[in-house]
Amino acid sequence: MPNLTSAPEETKKLAAVIAGQLQGGEIILLEGGLGAGKTTFVQGLVQGLGSKDRVHSPTFTIMNIYEIQHPAIKQVVHLDFYRVAESRLEDLGLDEWLGRKDTVIVAEWPPENVWPPNQPIIRIRFSLVSDQERKIIIEK
Ligand code: ADP
Ligand code: MG
Repeated sequence: MPNLTSAPEETKKLAAVIAGQLQGGEIILLEGGLGAGKTTFVQGLVQGLGSKDRVHSPTFTIMNIYEIQHPAIKQVVHLDFYRVAESRLEDLGLDEWLGRKDTVIVAEWPPENVWPPNQPIIRIRFSLVSDQERKIIIEK
């Protein structure tokens, strides 16, 4: 499903629509360069799930956890692997959050070989079209 958004608010709105389809246990992998809209998408996703938590890029903290009020989803775990070396993946404590039905994982700059094969993966590709336009392709 390709989408073209022409403002950050539109990207958030699209994310809120995706949020409405989540059941818990999904892993959402966000691909695309700096400024392509990945973190903006996570803001819309977390708002769409009814969280009041402030979403910011976890570039330095690696992992942010947002509390969600939802019948099936208790938290969104937001990861940014931009500065994470492959060798450090095991130290992140990600195992605690994998395989849980009450958790949605959303990852910027995701590595490929760490996701359990039995968990649903939603892959979303972001690209810059112009100053305000972003192409967003959702693969399910
Ligand atoms: P990333 O996490 O991919 O590096 P961010 O979401 O942090 O990207 O930043 C996207 C930047 O682009 C923000 O400054 C945002 O305001 C701007 N922007 C402009 N148009 C859009 C759009 N259509 N969708 C998302 N962000 C947009
Ligand atoms: Mg980001």
